[in-house]
Amino acid sequence: MIAVMSADATPDQIADVLALLREIGLDPVIGEFAGATLVITEAAAAPEVAFAVETAAGVDRLVMVSGAQQLTGRDFCPADSRVEVGGPDGAVFGGDGFVVIAGPCAVESQSQMNGVVDSVVAAGAAMLRGGAFKPRTSPYSFQGLGVAGLALLAEQRSRTGLPVVTEVVTPQDVERVAEESDMLQIGTRNMQNFALLREAGTSGRPVLLKRGMAATIEEWLLAAEYLMHMGNGDVVLCERGIRSFDRSTRFTLDLSAVAEAKRLTHLPVIVDPSHSTGRPHLVGPMSLAAAACGADGLLIDVHTDAQAALCDGAQALSGAQFTELMDRLRPVAEAVGRTLWQPRAHGLTRV
Ligand code: PEP
Ligand code: MN
Repeated sequence: MIAVMSADATPDQIADVLALLREIGLDPVIGEFAGATLVITEAAAAPEVAFAVETAAGVDRLVMVSGAQQLTGRDFCPADSRVEVGGPDGAVFGGDGFVVIAGPCAVESQSQMNGVVDSVVAAGAAMLRGGAFKPRTSPYSFQGLGVAGLALLAEQRSRTGLPVVTEVVTPQDVERVAEESDMLQIGTRNMQNFALLREAGTSGRPVLLKRGMAATIEEWLLAAEYLMHMGNGDVVLCERGIRSFDRSTRFTLDLSAVAEAKRLTHLPVIVDPSHSTGRPHLVGPMSLAAAACGADGLLIDVHTDAQAALCDGAQALSGAQFTELMDRLRPVAEAVGRTLWQPRAHGLTRV
């Protein structure tokens, strides 16, 4: 149950609503959304208490939602949310546009970034990706360039005018990553890092929240709930494959989760066909399928020298493969009423 306080509600009025709910044994939590204070309880109150809350001073409206999925659910927000990234010249997830994010798994060097970015921009990518802080399974694998990588990615943002997304792995780095990028990525391995979610929830930046590789859809949406109740409504979900028994693909891409998540939540949902399949020849078919089943965009690994890549080269598309994929995506997106998001401003010439 969500009591949305009016913009001019006083601290005393908020305290009164909290007291009303505590009196009947509920455990309300304060949240923030679109500039309003929210008083949220997982359980719905009995009708007479709900009426008392609804008519209490300072309460704008009461939304009856029971269960843990409060702010992410369609009861609270029936229409699809739009998440704007990178300001007016950036990209919008969740509308008619289909947003393709592309770039290398990891930022490696300036020349690597120049090469990859030139080719994905020429092919029409709407946003750039590149990891500076890499959460690697082995401590002996390349861990990313860290702060230096952030600077190299930010350089591509100014060079092209395209928004950039990059992963943040610890709560202490959230502020820094938020300063140097347009969108924070929380990866599969950190989907339930609640301290990180809380920090990202107050960062003021949109968050790309990947599904945990062994997370249920419910757990994924509750991770988004952590971000939202801290005041961050700009959350984009990303299906990136779950663990299964089959090793012929890196993970098992769960496209049913895209349609199901979109039924359960108003948040946009995109798909990562690269980390899920781990195989370049599967990235194309899964990208088309993602567009067809209602995803709001894609996150694709591209590298111009995959053999030499320091991270996940085995799944990266070449620039030519990415260009071909973009050409095949266009009609599929259009068939389901979407258009590939066209960047409004970029410094590089499109070929
Ligand atoms: C990534 O996108 O770079 C990444 C590490 O993905 P995931 O968290 O899905 O493994
Ligand atoms: Mn990767």
